[in-house]
Amino acid sequence: MSKNVFILPGDGIGPEIVTEAKKVLDVVNARFDLGLQFDEGLLGGSAIDVHGVPLSDGDLGKARSADAILMGSVGGPKWDQLDRAIRPEKGLLKLRSELDLFSNLRPAILYPQLADASSLKPEVVSGLDILIVRELTGGIYFGEPRGIRTLENGEREGYNTYKYNESEIERIGRNAFATAQKRSKKLCSVDKANVLEATVLWREVMDRLAPEYPDVELSHMYVDNAAMQLVRAPKQFDVLVTGNMFGDILSDCAAMLTGSIGMLPSASMDKNGRGMYEPCHGSAPDIAGQGIANPLATILSAAMMLRYSLDMNAAAEAIELAVSKVLDQGLRTADIYTAGTEKVSTAQMGDAVVEALSA
Ligand code: NAD
Repeated sequence: MSKNVFILPGDGIGPEIVTEAKKVLDVVNARFDLGLQFDEGLLGGSAIDVHGVPLSDGDLGKARSADAILMGSVGGPKWDQLDRAIRPEKGLLKLRSELDLFSNLRPAILYPQLADASSLKPEVVSGLDILIVRELTGGIYFGEPRGIRTLENGEREGYNTYKYNESEIERIGRNAFATAQKRSKKLCSVDKANVLEATVLWREVMDRLAPEYPDVELSHMYVDNAAMQLVRAPKQFDVLVTGNMFGDILSDCAAMLTGSIGMLPSASMDKNGRGMYEPCHGSAPDIAGQGIANPLATILSAAMMLRYSLDMNAAAEAIELAVSKVLDQGLRTADIYTAGTEKVSTAQMGDAVVEALSA
């Protein structure tokens, strides 16, 4: 049976890195007879340029009917001056909320070959394998009311609303407990319950769920401490669960433990496991068009897509193994380059993964 994959390359380095991931998907599609069919649409600035909006109704419809979505990244200075309502990021947020992609899985795995590329000492990060489960469709990024208003005294005030209801917390909590059960059964819930009432409720709901997962050891940590512990002793963590904004920040921090944000894939899923897959990083306008971006986060996102949404584990493993082989060969894009390794371009890295897959 064929499966439809909808590809949204996006902006900046997005099209460059997605091209490499598509090369890799084409190879596994043929080799494992996966029956993948591809369609492509526009998201973010590229959609604004063509349709005047960051996500057209047509592309939203295609995203809805696809079995999985592979996305590059959106945004860039070209569109920064536009009205907030039609900025590139709005298209991405709309896609996540319209498809109810509330659960964002962000693994941070240190490939042993890249221990030297991390800014932390090898003994602190070697063997690192943590998973951040981030709530993606609620919290302060979506809370209303929001805006910038003028007060009676004429001063302007910016305001946002941080809120979570119990059912939103419960569904991400259940997802995180179930994920922890499949790993080393340790779950750390990150909040700011000493200051924010919304996260007092977050903590209460996590505690209420815990007895239903007796094999999982639940702990709680304030977000400021979690940020510190991530760079002090990251291997104390296995699965972390947190809200939208804290997860956004902590996962970028975790990214650097692994050497480069260019190595980190992510999955955003609905309650049925249907999802969108994208690298954790943004559109990197500073290096766009230079052919030096690291495509591995996107290639690894494609592997996550095969595993989590399309149930094609063998192909996912083959891609992950090929990435590891390429790193063994000493091939590095500029972001993970260290002395004694060979610097390669975006396309050369993609070709090397294709070659390792075909070997
Ligand atoms: P960024 O992740 O794009 O870049 C941060 C730094 O990491 C830059 O120095 C960049 O060159 C580097 N980098 C990122 N990906 C890389 C890769 N694959 N290979 C090598 N180096 C890489 O974050 P930013 O600079 O804060 O944001 C740039 C734009 O991306 C903004 O418009 C922002 O809104 C957008 N953004 C989009 C997403 C998304 O699409 N999901 C996420 C974050 C930021």
